[in-house]
Amino acid sequence: MQHLPITEVKGIGEETAVQLADLRIHTIAELIEHFPYRYEDYQIKDLHHVKHEERVTVIGTIQTEPSIRYYGKKKNRLSFRMLINGVLATVTFFNRAFLKKQIVVGAKATVTGKWDQHRLMITASEFKQGEQEREQTLMPIYSTTGSLTIKKMRKYIQQALLQYKSEIIDPIPASYLQAYKLPNKAQAIQELHFPSSHESLKHARRRIVYEEFLFFQLKMQAFRKMSREHSNGQSLNINDEAVQTFVSHLAFPLTGAQSRVKDEIIADIKSSYQMNRLLQGDVGSGKTVVAAIAMYAVVEAGYQAALMVPTEILAEQHVQSLQVLFEPFGIEVELLTGSVKGRNRKDLLANVLSGSTKVIVGTHALIQDDVHFSKLGLVITDEQHRFGVNQRRILRDKGQHPDVLFMTATPIPRTLAISVFGDMDVSIIDEMPAGRKAIETYWAKPDMLTRVLDFTEKELNKGRQVYVICPLIEESDKLDVQNAIDVHLLLQQHFEGKWKVGLMHGRLHPSEKDEVMNAFSQNETQLLVSTTVVEVGVNVPNATVMIIYDAERFGLAQLHQLRGRVGRGDAQSYCILLADPKSEIGKERMKIMTESNDGFVLSEKDLELRGPGDFFGSKQSGLPEFKVADVVHDYRALEVARQDAQSLIFSTSFWKEEEFALLREYLEKEGVLDGQKID
Ligand code: ADP
Ligand code: MG
Repeated sequence: MQHLPITEVKGIGEETAVQLADLRIHTIAELIEHFPYRYEDYQIKDLHHVKHEERVTVIGTIQTEPSIRYYGKKKNRLSFRMLINGVLATVTFFNRAFLKKQIVVGAKATVTGKWDQHRLMITASEFKQGEQEREQTLMPIYSTTGSLTIKKMRKYIQQALLQYKSEIIDPIPASYLQAYKLPNKAQAIQELHFPSSHESLKHARRRIVYEEFLFFQLKMQAFRKMSREHSNGQSLNINDEAVQTFVSHLAFPLTGAQSRVKDEIIADIKSSYQMNRLLQGDVGSGKTVVAAIAMYAVVEAGYQAALMVPTEILAEQHVQSLQVLFEPFGIEVELLTGSVKGRNRKDLLANVLSGSTKVIVGTHALIQDDVHFSKLGLVITDEQHRFGVNQRRILRDKGQHPDVLFMTATPIPRTLAISVFGDMDVSIIDEMPAGRKAIETYWAKPDMLTRVLDFTEKELNKGRQVYVICPLIEESDKLDVQNAIDVHLLLQQHFEGKWKVGLMHGRLHPSEKDEVMNAFSQNETQLLVSTTVVEVGVNVPNATVMIIYDAERFGLAQLHQLRGRVGRGDAQSYCILLADPKSEIGKERMKIMTESNDGFVLSEKDLELRGPGDFFGSKQSGLPEFKVADVVHDYRALEVARQDAQSLIFSTSFWKEEEFALLREYLEKEGVLDGQKID
């Protein structure tokens, strides 16, 4: 049945088939799974409880003959009176003079339209003789095209179900349906198209959502199992004692979370499968230290380690901080960015190839074709969501399939993490080093700028430094820069003779950027006006104030990221959001920022308020598309499906029992098994 062409359905001819093809409906399966995107609710209402201008469906008794007025050729107006729950109301139709015959005094009728409470009138759009059955009040609304009306669509689907419903095969084992009290597939499909009640529609939806998520997660988990068992990763001989010595040389003890995550990573490095792990941790949770330990372990075992970051500034900072950690062990940390050129670059590449360079930090320059490693054991990327999927793959394919660790400080909401990165293992640092002071966050309207600057001056007088961030105006890089330039000028004038103000933006040459950044970290400038280029990783512990202009333009996750630039030293730090959001959601977002310092809480909120498309920027979101399911609102179902998929894939019965045959078939069709036998 699945693959039969839609022309097999009675009433669908070649012409209709062409129209349906526009909606990417070619087969019967595609037709019956063309689900409504919403429902019109024709629930019968009592006029006494209906508000002015509300859309209603009511039942009444016709009281008068219809009167019709014609305006020109095509326009007309038909009115009659109807008694509805004791209210004598006027019902008016426009351009439906043809209804005349059906309107019989004394008969019952059902009408749908907009209620005018003052004139006791319904401007109606639908008329039905007799009483509508109380249950069948939800009408499916489909996406359609051209002359294909919703009504026709309903008819085709109804006919298709009539002919083929009994042939719909359920891929989900009955035991699962029972456990979750879900209808079978045929019932669910029928209900989604022709709901018999709100309640049963809900269950039908739940059923399809579960199937969509389960299939998706089965695929992800199968990928995971495959890459674990069949990846030709390298098994490194890690010296646990040496690693322990390195850890004991740190200036502080690891937090419990750091220690746990370190063990997870080391276990991956020791094993023969290729690590594919996502390390999440809030800003300042101490990911870099964990990365350093892993790199040291690999180098100690005789391999090379690379750290890839999104910006040159960040690369340089990492080189500096790693150098401090590696120096006592006689290990050099090298830098490779686009700015390393000529002789230097040539020498460096030669050393990377010979293996004498052990630890290297860089930007995308690291994955260019002419960079060859002698024995690359581990690649770490920081802020991995800025690297596209393809770049991730290039990394994994480099050399002898090195272990790969993706680090991110933008806490990815669990729901997204398990969908977009469902094929990866996930480690989370969910604990901050002890003694960190929470950053105090305030929301100020732009007209309070003077007070904000007075406060800023107090901090400056204490010897502290200040970031001022201007938003990214997406439509125009030029405007973006101009914005920062204006604010820079304003602050220069305001603090003239007292404090120096630096300016940083994306249009600066890399060497200029370095100069500006160095001046700020050396406290030669006390304020730094910047576009969002400082977002990631920059570390100036003496900075205690973060002012963010037009904060409503940023996502919560990004605001949190920016806020993380302060609070890096011992002193109390502050974040001030200058914002005048117009919408309720905008206000809500500012309020949440002042209330929470927890990146995970914020990212969940952000996802809720802005939707998944906006979270990563739609282009590289990599979010799968579902017909019915919604990763945000159905996240509980997603979680359940993930757990089920995981235990299925990693069980032995899944690969042999008859009840899972259709699920296995699905995986095979999706190419997940890819000729490889998983047993
Ligand atoms: P992240 O990369 O997660 O933002 P970092 O690794 O840069 O965080 O660490 C932030 C700061 O906290 C650094 O100055 C680092 O030295 C310090 N730090 C890391 N781990 C600890 C710890 N366990 N105890 C105290 N300070 C720590
Ligand atoms: Mg970091």
